[in-house]
Amino acid sequence: MSFARRAAAPARRMLATLTPTPAPEPPPSRPLRVVARENAVVELVRVRRTFGSDPPVVALQDVDLTIERGTSVAVVGPSGSGKSTLMNILGCLDRPTSGHYLFGGVDVARLSDDERATIRAEKIGFVFQSFHLLAHRTALENVMLAEVYRGTPREGRDERALAALDRVGMSHRADFLPPKLSGGEKQRVAIARALMGDHVLLLCDEPTGNLDSANTRGVLALFDELAATGLTLVIVTHETDVAEHASRHVRMIDGQIAEDSAWDGRG
Ligand code: ADP
Ligand code: MG
Repeated sequence: MSFARRAAAPARRMLATLTPTPAPEPPPSRPLRVVARENAVVELVRVRRTFGSDPPVVALQDVDLTIERGTSVAVVGPSGSGKSTLMNILGCLDRPTSGHYLFGGVDVARLSDDERATIRAEKIGFVFQSFHLLAHRTALENVMLAEVYRGTPREGRDERALAALDRVGMSHRADFLPPKLSGGEKQRVAIARALMGDHVLLLCDEPTGNLDSANTRGVLALFDELAATGLTLVIVTHETDVAEHASRHVRMIDGQIAEDSAWDGRG
């Protein structure tokens, strides 16, 4: 042993006594599997999200959830059951306290804020109950704005926006201002905006909350068409008809998945 190392040894021993022994890791109740499944767009592995301390509020409690490409999943559950927390994590707006979130096979919890923002901008669309359209911009301009914020090249922007409007059956209303559109039409424009780019996941929070039943049916039919093209949809809803329309339902209670139609023999 060199002189320097010998001299350092007592100091190291002293440091070791001063440093509190870290609490042992609790043994995992089941082995962690963080290898992405083929065809899975979203994979949550034992995702936990807590808020605060003394005591922490456990908003998500070790949630496992795999969603395959081209599925529409309705998320239901009472207020406070963790639906918004789940959506924020799926949308890369928030990170799990522990566990893994694989998006297209990439563990996003390990990415930087900038890298997560890029995934969010390029791959994930958001649809809300209250459309969030600019009243003084046409349907086409509203859809184009999705790209203005993202900084994609100007060239071809209007063609891409028109193609997105076409995808939701709204290209014939491209020049209309939102106040001239019905609720269902406004939501279609908002969906077109959410689809701009190379999006694979659409997160919808009460998307039919402001629609009458005819417009609700129209939006649900559109969701079916989009899922058939391989888009994956996650829809938080209170409405039974919307939930029943989805190909899979997940019921949250107290931060856990209490029921999942994909696994209970019905789906
Ligand atoms: P839901 O959308 O189903 O109503 P949330 O995901 O909003 O439920 O909330 C789940 C739990 O986590 C609730 O107890 C809520 O109070 C708590 N919670 C959510 N967000 C926060 C936060 N930012 N700070 C503290 N507690 C939160
Ligand atoms: Mg909520």
